[in-house]
Amino acid sequence: MNLAEVGEFGLIGRIARRVRPDAAVLIGIGDDAASVLPTSGAASLLTSDMLVEGIHFDLTYTDPVRLGRKTLSVNLSDIAAMGGDPRYFLMSLAIPPTITAEFIEAVVDGMLERADQFGVTLIGGDTCSARQDFTLSITLLGEQLPGRVIGRGGAQPGDLVYVTGTVGDAALGLCELRSGLRQSPAIERHLDPLPRVEVGRLLAEAGLPTAMIDVSDGLLADLGHILECSGVGAELAVDDLPLSGYFRETAGTVHPAPRELAMTGGEDYELLFTVPLDREMEVASLLSGNAVSVTRIGHIVAGETLHLHDRKGMPVTVSHRGYRHF
Ligand code: ADP
Ligand code: MG
Repeated sequence: MNLAEVGEFGLIGRIARRVRPDAAVLIGIGDDAASVLPTSGAASLLTSDMLVEGIHFDLTYTDPVRLGRKTLSVNLSDIAAMGGDPRYFLMSLAIPPTITAEFIEAVVDGMLERADQFGVTLIGGDTCSARQDFTLSITLLGEQLPGRVIGRGGAQPGDLVYVTGTVGDAALGLCELRSGLRQSPAIERHLDPLPRVEVGRLLAEAGLPTAMIDVSDGLLADLGHILECSGVGAELAVDDLPLSGYFRETAGTVHPAPRELAMTGGEDYELLFTVPLDREMEVASLLSGNAVSVTRIGHIVAGETLHLHDRKGMPVTVSHRGYRHF
């Protein structure tokens, strides 16, 4: 179906009809602005992430449903990294003539599926035409009590560094896609990441992390952001990085330096956080019932340098830290 036949308002109407009612949404899609009731006492968390065809996704690798899910997931991950509870989102689309109405509906299907999974509601957005590249942007609003919000700037010398899940899988998936493979556990991680919303909120509500970030640019780059914001350095044990079984088995066949791939590959959307040394036991007990694992990978030191060492304590060097846009 041609989008010109459906029209901008036809499309918005079709999207609006599929949104679940939410008692806290006073005015949703269809007015000049949305209106929502804040939770009493909560601070708002606001984040925006844009995905551009040819830069963030390749339509020969992904399908519209996964693309919709991922666009919301990367935004959910940013709220997770603040320890927040995600609530509402706005979705903006720039649509080139090559994109059909069915394609957009499938993107919205994926997005609303993920929205239901995490209890967030679509409340508006913007729709326009584009000359060439399909672009999606989401602005997500979350909430958390002001004293519970976790930033990047609170890491202290002596704190332990942890990461959830496993790292490197998404980067491995991208290598596999580029080499012609179309299906694998790593490709699934790259095309359809699951944000660690519950873990982020649990940690924040327990007041455990001194700093937290989600791994989007690569573990070293994102740890670098914490170090810079906190004015500290870190010692990282590269042999302790949690790798999936699939990564251990296959990364060496598609990449010359798998360990480097795990440290610098982006888009894992795991949480990287620091915790005071004397609260180590609380991390394990808090997350013991959770399906997501958490691994201690190093500690914070004074100074501003990130030191990497292997199992024998020997220094490790890497050629770059992670993804850079410019
Ligand atoms: P305005 O001209 O006032 O900016 P629009 O025509 O851009 O209004 O949008 C009309 C309504 O549809 C608004 O409530 C807006 O939030 C919503 N909307 C527009 N595009 C989208 C979209 N892609 N997804 C969800 N809601 C949308
Ligand atoms: Mg508008």
